[in-house]
Amino acid sequence: GDYGPEQPGRVIAHFGRTLDVRPDADGEVIRCHLRANLEGLVTGDRVVWRGRTDAEGRTVEGVVVARGERASVLERPDARGQLKPVAANIDQILIVFAVEPEPHPNLIDRYLVAAEATGILPVLVLNKVDLLPDDGGELMALLRRYEGLGYPVVTTTTEREGGLDTLHARLAGRTSVFVGQSGVGKSSLIDRLLPDEELRIGELSKDSRKGTHTTTTARLYRLPEAEGAELIDSPGIREFGLIHLDEQQVTEGFIEFHPFLGHCRFRDCRHRQEPGCALLEAVERGEIHPERFASYRRILDSLEAS
Ligand code: GDP
Ligand code: ZN
Repeated sequence: GDYGPEQPGRVIAHFGRTLDVRPDADGEVIRCHLRANLEGLVTGDRVVWRGRTDAEGRTVEGVVVARGERASVLERPDARGQLKPVAANIDQILIVFAVEPEPHPNLIDRYLVAAEATGILPVLVLNKVDLLPDDGGELMALLRRYEGLGYPVVTTTTEREGGLDTLHARLAGRTSVFVGQSGVGKSSLIDRLLPDEELRIGELSKDSRKGTHTTTTARLYRLPEAEGAELIDSPGIREFGLIHLDEQQVTEGFIEFHPFLGHCRFRDCRHRQEPGCALLEAVERGEIHPERFASYRRILDSLEAS
């Protein structure tokens, strides 16, 4: 049959030039191909598509005819080291760290800098709080410090009933990704958010479910426990980290530096020991935490070393 009218949808998975598109209007996920002049679509993209119906009026396949503007895009280096988009229209990056393994001192700052460079809101998730001492310990104090900088923070545990309640509230109405080092509990959290095997595969189009198109690219999931919550996940996304950042991106990745940038005496100040450095003076006055400044220095040094 002919292709029907244009309608909006969202890419929930892709396999080369073949896409699974979820219509914004209720209905089944439709296997689509890309119109010839389009390329580079990724999971999370908003698209305009047209469906083709069979004799019984059921939409059997579709064609994507346009891509919507991207509010954000997450990139990863490909095999040649070139940055490639892997997911689009993400509202927040959940940086997961845990009571165990204890985070390396500037690990959180590294993730924050990388997230800031994408323009996507970072959220700090401290997992395994069941292992915290009663007084909360140093990690809770650290978390409060980040909260003081303006970052949303959430504490979770997969070991207790209700341990994900504040996470659910944070996920509602947004598209999220989970990142963080191995062992912090990302898989455990996602298992709890998507408990039903059927939820994991059920939304794919019939063709995808046949397993002929298994993929390691990103998938978009609707999370059942939180209204309007979507999760984009892939092994590559979970490994998101500090890559290909230049000195300026690192400097701008420390959000509390912003009021002072451009106020150093020397325009090319590198904020080491220059006289009249606005950042160093802010550290002196206690307006920038010395540990964050030390972290900044360490990240810059590691860029120079690599
Ligand atoms: P990933 O590498 O980030 O995906 O981490 P996993 O989800 O594989 O979790 C690593 C280990 O931490 C596993 O043994 C989990 O059972 C454990 N774990 C996950 N969440 C929690 C938690 O909230 N509390 C405790 N005590 N252990 C947890
Ligand atoms: Zn300076």
